[in-house]
Amino acid sequence: RIPVQEFCMSLLETFARQSGEVELSFYKVEDVDHVWADRFLLETAVLNLLDNARKYGGQSQIFMHVAKSGSWLSLTVADEGPGIPDRFQKYVFDKFYRVPEGNRHEVKGSGLGLFHVREIVKAHGGKVKLISESGRGTKVTVLIPF
Ligand code: ATP
Ligand code: MG
Repeated sequence: RIPVQEFCMSLLETFARQSGEVELSFYKVEDVDHVWADRFLLETAVLNLLDNARKYGGQSQIFMHVAKSGSWLSLTVADEGPGIPDRFQKYVFDKFYRVPEGNRHEVKGSGLGLFHVREIVKAHGGKVKLISESGRGTKVTVLIPF
């Protein structure tokens, strides 16, 4: 049982400690109370999304939005960076996959982050949605059933 508000606050603290100066906006919808989840795993998943927004978002502001969406807790991390071209989007959750274009291979990574996110979310009976547009940014939403 995770109290959502407190979970988000400690998560953002951890992220700030890991990555220093990053501009991050956090929104939470009030009627979210708690969710049943493995705290460590859920934290790992969201930290992976924040890490990607920081690494690939090209100095853009990062947004995190937490809300109740029907019977799901929705956690969204968004950036206004270069985005992921359409043709690569279906692969980004694959093990070891990294987008082969743009300046992204200069950024270190193993291509496992989003793979882990998907596995973690699956283990909770949840879903992940990716919306990304070249030149406009990337938005990843994790949905966990209440
Ligand atoms: P790791 O997370 O293991 O350190 P990684 O970041 O390369 O490595 P993933 O997190 O799985 O791996 O992401 C896969 C690929 O998707 C990245 O290499 C990058 O090309 C692309 N990608 C992920 N998030 C974003 C984003 N917010 N903006 C643009 N591209 C992204
Ligand atoms: Mg990553």
